[in-house]
Amino acid sequence: MLTSTRPPRAQRRPRVLGLALAGTLALTGFAGLASGAGAVAAPDAGTGQLPGPPVAGGLRTGFELSGGATWTTLEQEQQFLQALDAASERLSVTEVGRTAQDRPLQLVAVGDPAPASAEAIAFGSSVLFSCTQHGDEPSGREACLSLARDLAATTDPATAEFLRSTTVLFVPTVNPDGVAAGTRENSQGLDVNRDHLRLETAEAQVLAQLQRDLRPDVLHDLHEYGPTPGTYDRDLIALWPRNRNVDARVHDLSQQLTEEHVLPAVAAGGNSTGIYGYRYDAAGNVVAQRAGDGQERILRNTAGLRHSLGILVEASNAPANPLEEANPALLNLRRVDTQVTAARATLGMVAEHRAEIADATAASAARSALERATLSFAGADNVLPDPDEVDLAPPCGYRLSAQQAADAAQTLALQGIRTEAQPDGTVFVPAAQESRDLVHLLLDERAQHGLTVGEAVACE
Ligand SMILES: [Zn+2]
Repeated sequence: MLTSTRPPRAQRRPRVLGLALAGTLALTGFAGLASGAGAVAAPDAGTGQLPGPPVAGGLRTGFELSGGATWTTLEQEQQFLQALDAASERLSVTEVGRTAQDRPLQLVAVGDPAPASAEAIAFGSSVLFSCTQHGDEPSGREACLSLARDLAATTDPATAEFLRSTTVLFVPTVNPDGVAAGTRENSQGLDVNRDHLRLETAEAQVLAQLQRDLRPDVLHDLHEYGPTPGTYDRDLIALWPRNRNVDARVHDLSQQLTEEHVLPAVAAGGNSTGIYGYRYDAAGNVVAQRAGDGQERILRNTAGLRHSLGILVEASNAPANPLEEANPALLNLRRVDTQVTAARATLGMVAEHRAEIADATAASAARSALERATLSFAGADNVLPDPDEVDLAPPCGYRLSAQQAADAAQTLALQGIRTEAQPDGTVFVPAAQESRDLVHLLLDERAQHGLTVGEAVACE
C-alpha cells in the first residue's frame, strides 16, 4: 500500500468533510475521544475475554491479560495484530520494513473503514503514533496496541465519526530488536531517535518513508524516562519541536498541542505533568533545563521540519507512591494509562482544530518550496544561536559529485528530496523544495549532523 504517487502537501486543502465536521466534533468528539470511550472493561474471569461484541474489542494484549504484571511479548503482539486485522473492518496491518535482525516493522492503520491506499491517507487528515523507538521503554507500545484496538472497536458515535474523517496510524514497535534485547538502542547499537536525518537504521528509514508517503498532520512520539526525585520527576512530560527552522505556525500549533491539550488532559487524571527537559523547584518554577533541544535529527524536530505538528511524550517509569512500589503492576498500568490519555488528547486536538492544522501544514510546505528563509544550524526556540550559526541568505542548492550522490541517494529519496542530474555527471540538489530545511541540514558544511558536504551554489 505504500508505493504511491504522492501529492505535494502544498496542493492539499482542508477537505470539505473535515471542515463541516470540525464544529460538531469540537463539541462532542473531544469528549468521546478523551474520555476513553471503548476503553477496556473488566474481562470475564474464566476466559480473560471482554464480554459481548464487537469481536475486536474482545482481543486482549499480553499486558492486559497479565493485569499489568508483564509486558506484551513480540510473539503476543503478532498474534494480537493478526487477530485484530482479521476481526475489524476499521483496522489494517501492513509490513513496512524489516530490522537488521529480520523482525517485521509494521504499520497499523485505523479508519472507518480502514484506508484503502497511501494516497487516501496522504490527501486526508491523519495522525502517526511512533511507539517504541527505545526498546526499554515499554509503556508507549502497550498504549498504542490497546488504543488501536479500542478505536477500531469503538461504539461511541463521535469516535466513529472521527474515524470517518481521520486515519489514525501506529507503528506499535519501531524498535523490535531493542525490545527483544531490552535495550534502548537497536541491534546495531544505534539510538534510533538520533537518526532521523541521516537514516542509518532500518527503523528510522521506515518512519521517514511513512512521513514522506502518508504525510501525517501530527506525529506523536511515545517514550519513557527515569526521573530524578525532587527536580525532574513529573508523571508525564512532553515537548514540541524546538528546532529554529520549523515553520512558526507549525511550531506554535505543536506547542499548543502540548500545553493546551496533552498536558492538561493528563493532569485532569490526577497525574503531575511538565515540559520535557525542564527542572522544577518545589514551587513549580523552572530552575534549569537539562534536555530538550532543537537537534534536527530527533524525530520531534524532524517532524516539524517536514511540516507535521510534532510532540514527544515521556512517561515516568518510577513508582509514584508506596502502593506502586509494593505492586509494580499498578505502576505499569498507570504508565500505560497516562500514555493513552496523552494520545487521546492529540486526537482530540485534531478533531477540534482539523482545518487550522491542515492549513498550517500545507502553508509550511508551500513556503519551503517558494521562499528563501533564514537558516539556523544551532540553537532552539528558547536558545539563540551564535551569529555564525545563522545564515540570512542561505545557498540556493548544493552540487554533489557522482559518488557523493550515489552514497546519499537512499537518504535523500526517503527524505523526499528532489535532485537534478547534470550533464557532467554531478547532481544538483535545489534548496527550493518542500524538504528545504533537510537539504541544508544534510548537505551544508556548517550542519552539525550532516550526511555529506556538498558544494554550496549561491543564488543568481
Ligand atoms: Zn525514549
